[in-house]
Amino acid sequence: MTAPARLPIIDLHCDLLVYLSDVPGSAIDNVAEIGCSLPALTQGNVRLQTMAIYCATAPGSTKYAHLQAEIFHKLATDERSCLTAVKDVESLHNALSGKGDIGMIASIENASGFCEEDEPLEDGFKKLEKIIEAVERLLYISFTHHLGNRFGGGNSTDQGITRDGKMLLDYMHGRRIAVDLSHTSDALAFDILEHIDRERLDIPIIASHSNFRPVWEHNRNLPDELVQEIIRRKGLIGMNFLRAFVNTGEPDALLQHIRYGFEKGAEDAICFGADYFYTSDFPDPTRVPFYFPEHEQAGTSYTYLLERLLEHLTPQQLEKLAYRNVQHFIERIWA
Ligand SMILES: [Zn+2]
Repeated sequence: MTAPARLPIIDLHCDLLVYLSDVPGSAIDNVAEIGCSLPALTQGNVRLQTMAIYCATAPGSTKYAHLQAEIFHKLATDERSCLTAVKDVESLHNALSGKGDIGMIASIENASGFCEEDEPLEDGFKKLEKIIEAVERLLYISFTHHLGNRFGGGNSTDQGITRDGKMLLDYMHGRRIAVDLSHTSDALAFDILEHIDRERLDIPIIASHSNFRPVWEHNRNLPDELVQEIIRRKGLIGMNFLRAFVNTGEPDALLQHIRYGFEKGAEDAICFGADYFYTSDFPDPTRVPFYFPEHEQAGTSYTYLLERLLEHLTPQQLEKLAYRNVQHFIERIWA
């Protein structure tokens, strides 16, 4: 079998663009400041990294998101960056071959990045098109962050979908962009699924960076019913490495999350969504340390987890977790 250390890795979520747009003196090769620095991605054999365009819901959110889309564009087009945009199945396969640059694809973490609370929805859709133009392709859109916005309720609320949220789903129909449930309230997640079913919309469903709520109780983790919906709809569930969502006292709980996923039928959905971000300016001291040491760097974390899972999973299952499930998902929705 292929040694797990050499398996290619696909990851569904990081906040490198936020770090590069926000932090004075930030650099893509600064291994001390962010877990998904370029040297760490290279060392960890990460072949495709999803780059979230994140913003809070606040005035100026669309300017902030646009800046990150431009940073993505610069990274993708700068010959010296060692990064290239994955925009079709061919570029996905090139990235996975490991012969060229590391692949990256953008996503939107909070729809306030293209539509502010007080502007016409149509203008928001135009801004969304502008972002897509800059990044070439979006893997997914999360409607909200922790709080709510004009589209619906975030994970720390109990609000469901709004009229604008339904219109955003109608807009996404057939565009081959997934809707991400990682930051929705449970109510918004179920409302999204209901609207998709009622209107027979063609929109893939994922949870890009969420673990399992029965393993660790947190509103950012998925209840079983949503896990089963994602499996049934052939979506993806990306395992999150943040201590707050793994288990605040027990690093091996991340292995439990992964094994729980396999036991619950998520064998073809489970993948990585490590959620590396710049933590030094984060206001909440209870979150420190943000990651357990064995999970804090892309250079070693994925390899460590795959090696620890060798005795529990088959070589085929390890491959699915490392990259195959995301590869197959992308091949299917972009075909
Ligand atoms: Zn997030």
